Formats: sequence, C-alpha cells, structure tokens
Amino acid sequence: MRDALVVFTMDWHPANHSQFKINGGIWPVHCVQGTPGAQLVSGLDVPADAEIVKKGTQPGEDGYSGFEGVNDHGNSLLEILRAHAVRRVYVCGIATDYCVLATALDAVKEGYEVHVLPDLIAGVDASTSTKAIEQMKANGVKIY
Ligand SMILES: [Zn+2]
Repeated sequence: MRDALVVFTMDWHPANHSQFKINGGIWPVHCVQGTPGAQLVSGLDVPADAEIVKKGTQPGEDGYSGFEGVNDHGNSLLEILRAHAVRRVYVCGIATDYCVLATALDAVKEGYEVHVLPDLIAGVDASTSTKAIEQMKANGVKIY
C-alpha cells in the first residue's frame, strides 16, 4: 500500500491566455483546454486515487504554481494537501525555472517540508534553472 498522495498539476489554458506570445505573453501556445496538448503525457502511471489540479485556467492567470490550481471539485492544492494531512511535499516535472520553482516556494510558504527531485525536473533555460535551484535551496527546499 502506498502511503503517499500523488498530485498531478496540469496547465489548462484558454486559447486567449495572456501568457501566449500571440496574446502578448512570452510562451508559445501550449496546454490549451480540451486539446491533446493539455493531457497528461501518455505512458504516465496515474494512480486511481491521484488528484489532478488544473492551473492557469483563466486568461490572466499565470498558473506557474500548483497552488494556484484546483481539482474538478474546486478544491485547491492546499485544501487537498490539508485534507490528506500531508506534511512533506516532493516536487518534480517542468519547468524548473517556472512551475517547479513557484510550486516549491509556495509549499515552503505553507509550512511544508519540501523536496525537489533533481533527476525528474527540467528547465527552460540553464541559467535561470541554476538560479531557481539556488533560490529554492536558500528558501529551505531540499534538493539532493
Ligand atoms: Zn502554461
């Protein structure tokens, strides 16, 4: 039996999302609601009791942090973690210098012991990823 809650975060952007270059932002179009690009990557092992939190769902919401997201019942990530009496959070995924950084720092702010799994993260840019790792470590995130 697994004694851990698995939470997936998904960018779930409307087509008119302000982050997109075509709308004046900095990112190429990605993870548009209801399109294949917004689905969890195929081959991922998704436990039946996993929580899925969607973020960046409104045109003006950056949605970098998983803590900005809610599940399909409208529960925030923080509410989900509290409901499961979570004490320790392990963060992995993309991108080190944006969503991983924002999620890990928010988890620290909420009082969690936070670990980032270095073999399971990837950044957009090497320089900003190095800075992000330094910033996370400076804020108490454990990265081995
Ligand atoms: Zn996004």
